[in-house]
Amino acid sequence: MLKTYDPALTGLRGQTITGTARYGKFLDLVTEPAGTEGSGGKLHLIVHLARAGWLRWRDSLPDKPPRPGKGPLAFRLRFTDGAGFDLTEAGTRKRLAVYLVTDPAAVAGIASLGPDPLDPAFTPAVLEAILAGRRTQVKGVLRDQKVIAGIGNAYSDEVLHAAKMSPFRLAASLTPAEVAELHAVISSTLREAIGRAAGLAAGDLKAEKKAGLRVHGQAGQPCPVCGDTVREVSFADSALQYCPTCQTGGKPLADRRMSRLLR
Ligand SMILES: [Zn+2]
Repeated sequence: MLKTYDPALTGLRGQTITGTARYGKFLDLVTEPAGTEGSGGKLHLIVHLARAGWLRWRDSLPDKPPRPGKGPLAFRLRFTDGAGFDLTEAGTRKRLAVYLVTDPAAVAGIASLGPDPLDPAFTPAVLEAILAGRRTQVKGVLRDQKVIAGIGNAYSDEVLHAAKMSPFRLAASLTPAEVAELHAVISSTLREAIGRAAGLAAGDLKAEKKAGLRVHGQAGQPCPVCGDTVREVSFADSALQYCPTCQTGGKPLADRRMSRLLR
């Protein structure tokens, strides 16, 4: 899971966490040598949890390092008071990533991020320029981290549902009014999600995220807006969920994988 080797992880010994930051889906714990805040020597411990990764806060961790094994534990950080956190990753596809760098831009995934949709500089005109000329589906554009940072698979489903827009609409085909509406719901959807999560303990975040989702991961459940059944389109590596009545004029989208199985 560790993607960097210089500086070594042992460089964290004696550092104090003095700040936090977020770049898209990357989390940054900013550390400085204890007692010298602001005088340099910053190290950034950067984590990308990927789809199956999670952070578990522990009030008390054993002082002996864990034995290497096949369990979900990928990384452990223990503070001098014995508290700390574990990074765990379920499943066999190991994509959780940890970086220790002196500059966050040294992480390729951060350097290549598109604009952050919560940045005041992300105006409707910026979104319009991003979508113009893209003959690709708006769902794919919204979840591409190099195009727009931080929305991803779950919140692109939520944004498109709130915008009453088909995930298969071609990005370039959106009218200026649709772009303005999409821009507004990107902002409101993300702000509401962050507002619900703010202040929660790490252990409560996943349940809160799930409870706040209207269509993502809700296939078979009633749409909270219109009551129609939320449907799903499956791909090799992921799935999207949507409401036919709210988003596609009542027509279910073709699910190529399903139709292949049924043939
Ligand atoms: Zn609906």
